[in-house]
Amino acid sequence: MQERPSKKNFSRWYDYVIYNADLIDIRYGVKGTVVYKPKAMEIIDSLYSLFESKLKERGHKKYLFPLFINFSSFKKEAEHIKGFEEEVFIVNKAGGKELEEPLIIRPTSETAFYPMFSIWIKSYRDLPMKTYQSVAVYRYETKATRPLFRGREFLWIETHNVFSSEEEARKHVEEDISMMSEQLKGLGIPYLIVKREPFDRFPGADESYAYDAIMPNGEVLQVATTHYLGQNFTKPFEVKYLDQNGNYRIPYSTTLGIGITRILAAIISVHGDDYGLYIPPQLSSVKGLIIPIYYGSSEEAVKQYVQKVLEYAKPHIFIPDFGEETPGEKFYKSELYGFPLRIEIGRKEAENNTVTIFRRDIRKKLTVPLKDLKIKLDETLENMQVSLKNKSETIKSIPEANNKDEVIKLLKEYPIIKINFCGRAECAQDLKKTTGGYEIRGELVGETEKAGEKCSWCGEKAIKKVIVARSF
Ligand SMILES: [Zn+2]
Repeated sequence: MQERPSKKNFSRWYDYVIYNADLIDIRYGVKGTVVYKPKAMEIIDSLYSLFESKLKERGHKKYLFPLFINFSSFKKEAEHIKGFEEEVFIVNKAGGKELEEPLIIRPTSETAFYPMFSIWIKSYRDLPMKTYQSVAVYRYETKATRPLFRGREFLWIETHNVFSSEEEARKHVEEDISMMSEQLKGLGIPYLIVKREPFDRFPGADESYAYDAIMPNGEVLQVATTHYLGQNFTKPFEVKYLDQNGNYRIPYSTTLGIGITRILAAIISVHGDDYGLYIPPQLSSVKGLIIPIYYGSSEEAVKQYVQKVLEYAKPHIFIPDFGEETPGEKFYKSELYGFPLRIEIGRKEAENNTVTIFRRDIRKKLTVPLKDLKIKLDETLENMQVSLKNKSETIKSIPEANNKDEVIKLLKEYPIIKINFCGRAECAQDLKKTTGGYEIRGELVGETEKAGEKCSWCGEKAIKKVIVARSF
């Protein structure tokens, strides 16, 4: 077997793991796209059910819109088309002929949903309308792509929601923030939630909130965003409703995009180690693998004991179909694939009526009596879930810089810092250029500290404290 690269060399490690753990295949041949294999699809399906169930609890209904969007619809919201026109794929030809009206392949689906909202929404009784769909979207990325991190096709959930009042719409944004925060914690992903600067907003949004996952090297990866859209989409798409007094009103709307492939990338990057993947138990239908260890005369006794263990261990514990390999090779694979638990059964275990449980996350072994196996398995899986939550709370305090020298000095030591900021796009661009790629990510949601007097970078009047980090 090929030697596993250390995670310290992240790029090589990542490429090795996604290929050897059989998650995806990058040889499809269309730039920026990958083939998702069964092991990745299992995690992806679990992520979809996790987030979809949370959305359903909040009253969202599932839809499926066409991949194509009429060009006329796409260009209705001026900012939106300006922001996306260089990224969209356009279909101009079909059946050997030029199309009268080109079709847009969805880069996001506001301009698909809103024409239908204008048909469906008539009265205050139709509101709120909370929808979502789970689909792939397409954007012509020109930056270097990396599988699951950045591609031209990615998997996500997009919610599109219409409310009768601004207040309700804003409340929904807050609920998005607490839902996402809880879920990222549960997945063990360290994160920051920031309010993006106006120059960095989603095209067509009044306010954008980003969920930035923190990668092991301190760089951030935007895994989801919530946007408060005000009336920016409902107005041009003529979505209106009759209120209780019989007056026409224009509703307010919001959207949430949950990047499923990016969350998968974050899970691989944050939880993986030199031994391979670690799939959080809640995302893995296989909680553990039984690996029998026998040599010569112990074979029969161990095999019989394994059958007994299976009775105690059900459900979600399986004997892997790794073929005729040595126990060592099976151990290697069970760790590379990231199964949460491994149950080792050898001659000693068979003789003593015990079982050895191996925890993938901390790579520690625990020997338990067979009769306690079920309880111990549940307990161990629960402890693993607690460890994940603790892992997501790794950022305790973020150092602050008050002037340019301090910014440069602190960024040499810390990947994420806070500064006082003037709010100007040119200042952010200058900081990025001078520091070799560090970006103003935005103001921390829940930031309570007031800004200092001067912008830590340019010295002009500061209006807020913001997070500076490098993005993946
Ligand atoms: Zn400034």
